[in-house]
Amino acid sequence: MFILEFFKRNKICSHLNVPPDVDFAYCPDCGELVENQWYIIRCACCDVKLKGVIKNGEIVPEKHFCHNCGSKDYVIERISKINFIDISYAVLVKSVVKNKAYQFTQSWIETDFRTSNYRPRLLQQFL
Ligand SMILES: [Zn+2]
Ligand SMILES: [Zn+2]
Repeated sequence: MFILEFFKRNKICSHLNVPPDVDFAYCPDCGELVENQWYIIRCACCDVKLKGVIKNGEIVPEKHFCHNCGSKDYVIERISKINFIDISYAVLVKSVVKNKAYQFTQSWIETDFRTSNYRPRLLQQFL
């Protein structure tokens, strides 16, 4: 029964214990590799930064219109590094990284290793 409950909790993990100041980290609660993705919302009209929030899984501005020009249009921008000035505006999305990409990288390393083993043998045949 305990195990069942544990798995159930995993499904709705929001990775709260992943520190926001790293790019990637393994979640201590569910064990998934989590990427911290920062987004910032700007007014599409005057380019001023708008405070973002997550509502129903979507990144939206906290206010429905720009506090500077009154426009309702906005753009969402992904930023690679968060800085001190943007942190009060930015939205943090904790996204789970699928293992697939990592397995792919590993197989490339293996192939490289094998080809480098072949070369000395070919050279010896030449001599
Ligand atoms: Zn988690
Ligand atoms: Zn504006």
